[in-house]
Amino acid sequence: MDLSRQYAEARDAQDPIGHFRARFHIPDGHLVYFDGNSLGRLPLATRDRLLDAIEREWGGDLIRGWDTWIDLAGRAGDVIAEGVLDVAPGEVILSDSSSVNLFKLASAALDANPGRRVIVTDDDNFPTDRYVLEGLAQARGLQLRVVPTDIDEGVDPARIAAALDDDVALVCLSHVAYRSGALADMVAITTAAHRVGALTLWDLCHSAGSVPVPLRQSGADLAVGCTYKYLNAGPGAPAFLFVRRDLQARLRQPIWGWFGQRDQFAMGAGYDPVESIERFQVGTPPVLGGYAVLEGARITAEAGVANLAAKSAELLRYTLRLNDAWLGDRLTLATPSDPARRGSHVTFHHPQAWQICQALKAAGVIPDFRTPQRLRIGLAPLYTRFVDVWEGMARLRDIVDSGSYEAFEPALGRVT
Ligand SMILES: *Cc1c(COP(=O)(O)O)cnc(C)c1O
Repeated sequence: MDLSRQYAEARDAQDPIGHFRARFHIPDGHLVYFDGNSLGRLPLATRDRLLDAIEREWGGDLIRGWDTWIDLAGRAGDVIAEGVLDVAPGEVILSDSSSVNLFKLASAALDANPGRRVIVTDDDNFPTDRYVLEGLAQARGLQLRVVPTDIDEGVDPARIAAALDDDVALVCLSHVAYRSGALADMVAITTAAHRVGALTLWDLCHSAGSVPVPLRQSGADLAVGCTYKYLNAGPGAPAFLFVRRDLQARLRQPIWGWFGQRDQFAMGAGYDPVESIERFQVGTPPVLGGYAVLEGARITAEAGVANLAAKSAELLRYTLRLNDAWLGDRLTLATPSDPARRGSHVTFHHPQAWQICQALKAAGVIPDFRTPQRLRIGLAPLYTRFVDVWEGMARLRDIVDSGSYEAFEPALGRVT
């Protein structure tokens, strides 16, 4: 194995999507950014689009801007549908946050399956998912059946299957695990859920823009996901939701807002929702955030999810090889070792992971810390280079070799 920086540079020179990095605002060449899976970088096209939308559209057009803004959530949804999730236009729309969309779609699914008393999820699902489901189960007097999951190996389809019976209304899981990056088997789990007549709701926050998502292949029913991670739409940008076409007219979400209403500006007396994906909207959509999603999703679509996933897998393999060569067994892999079971980030376990994270930040490397004692390295494929991996891992090696991380405060900060 060639451990030289020149090798990393040569890999970058051969990277078929390497040129996409130039499409991002990257003011600090020394910084190694391993956190694109928490907040993606700023695309130049987004900066330009937002400046124009602020000055010309908001500043100049004023209320007339709504002629073009009114269907922005659907237009951006279509780019995500076709270019990111490989489903049909009209099956995805921007709306609210992932948490709120999860509530809306889970409620709709429970209403569509009356008489069934159980929601299935796993104990390692993202906190907001667990809380939303817990609240729904409590409010409706349902049982939340929480399947145990190994935090490093990810969801076991056999355990989920064993938790299914005729009383299950909904199965709600993350496709890529936020901590370990483990990829759940969407096809196997969706098939098992459908066999007992349950609906499936997938959280795609760590999948959209990093791995192929087999919504169509699995026949999955519902999904939500955020846009500020691999889709690079910026802090607090609106989330997306997916409802399979044939379910749209049948499902009703619990928040009856005017953006779901048929003939919205008739200002009619009673709620009568459209039959299409727009019925899952609630109120006025965030236009500036919507433009950021549109531009971010376009870049992802242009690069192609298959190319992005292939590059992620290569970056991840390279990270592991450098780790083996330079750090031996001082860090423990906390991500599945099978490449087919991984998303686009890699996680290591170390008893002093928090201090190592602080030392890395001081050395110009931004990773993520996740409890318990996990160091998470995100390899967002649109702009992360092999040479970034080389630099980041070299700085990590120096920190661990020298023990310099011992000088950092062991108590956790408020935001990790
Ligand atoms: C980031 C993330 C979320 C965030 O939800 P918000 O409502 O946008 O705060 C939800 N689920 C998963 C799996 C995530 O990774």
